[in-house]
Amino acid sequence: MSTLPFSSSVYAARLDRAASLAADAGLDAIIVGPGPDLQYLVGVEGDTIERLTALVLGPGIAPTVVVPRMELAKVRTTAVGALGLRLADWVDGENPYDLVADALGTVTRVGVSDALPALHVIPIGERLGVALELATPVLRESRMVKDAAEIAELRRAGDAIDAVHRRVPEWLRAGRTEREVAADIAEAIVAEGHRTVEFVIVGSGPNGADPHHEVSDRVIQEGDIVVVDIGGAVPSGYNSDSTRTYAVGEPDAVAAERIVVLVRAQQAAVDAARPGATAAEVDAAARDVLAAAGLGEAFLHRTGHGIGVSVHEEPYIAPGNDLVLREGMAFSIEPGIYFAGEWGARIEDIVVVTAEGCERLNVAPHGLTSV
Ligand code: ZN
Ligand code: ZN
Ligand code: ZN
Repeated sequence: MSTLPFSSSVYAARLDRAASLAADAGLDAIIVGPGPDLQYLVGVEGDTIERLTALVLGPGIAPTVVVPRMELAKVRTTAVGALGLRLADWVDGENPYDLVADALGTVTRVGVSDALPALHVIPIGERLGVALELATPVLRESRMVKDAAEIAELRRAGDAIDAVHRRVPEWLRAGRTEREVAADIAEAIVAEGHRTVEFVIVGSGPNGADPHHEVSDRVIQEGDIVVVDIGGAVPSGYNSDSTRTYAVGEPDAVAAERIVVLVRAQQAAVDAARPGATAAEVDAAARDVLAAAGLGEAFLHRTGHGIGVSVHEEPYIAPGNDLVLREGMAFSIEPGIYFAGEWGARIEDIVVVTAEGCERLNVAPHGLTSV
């Protein structure tokens, strides 16, 4: 369906690293089901279904993909085929858990990826006779620090979503519904270089005060503040995610002033993001600016989340997260302010930690944009 975004040597290195991180964690093997981890490791996309597909690997274990025979052709088009990984295919009526056990040999500590459903985890555990553990720490460590090729893909995604934000004034106006505006934005997300639309949030007026509002049939009014939070995946599978806040016509003066503070808070967090800083320190940088302006209570969520082949992943930029940032980590910085029943605002960029600080991947104008 798609050509591989990276050379097969990139995937070979990711598999080696996952096996050695598993060894460091004392695991004999890890079992990875469809989801972002499998996409990252071998380029196999798609969701888990009732038929088991799983990559089995570990120190001293030849990476093996257990796969329904009907999925074999598709799997061969990925790094699984490019690297000539061992395939253990099965047909309905056969027991795929036996194939997992055969690939593993004798094991005592086995981790499973967090996207593998109970539907498969429980029979695998029973078949192996071991208490399965989460492989999350191993896989998180692999995925959290992006290499140059991944950063290039995130940059491509950032450029594509910036191009959409620059076009929002074409569609956003009084008299149209959020849903109508969102449909135009969704079309542009694809037209500007994404292969999928992952989400389109258009939160106008009071709807903007709900951070997880998506779209509704509310008719946009003159004077509304509108939160537009959008993202998609570029052909390589890496995601964009960027929020800008717009005013339809002349904004309320108090709202405009508060949004100036929000832009400052977002900038403060960007300035704080550098190797050696903790995730909590970056979060606090935004939070402190808002608190100093009396807006601390209006900021209802964490400052950001990691991004890559999934939209939300480690590292989470949140209070209490003492994770030390390293060069190559990519995450959002997206403080927001929300006034229930009235309006809300959020400004979001993806940044990548560099040797000295961080690079913003979204550069569309940050301030309140009147349309
Ligand atoms: Zn969210
Ligand atoms: Zn977002
Ligand atoms: Zn986000």
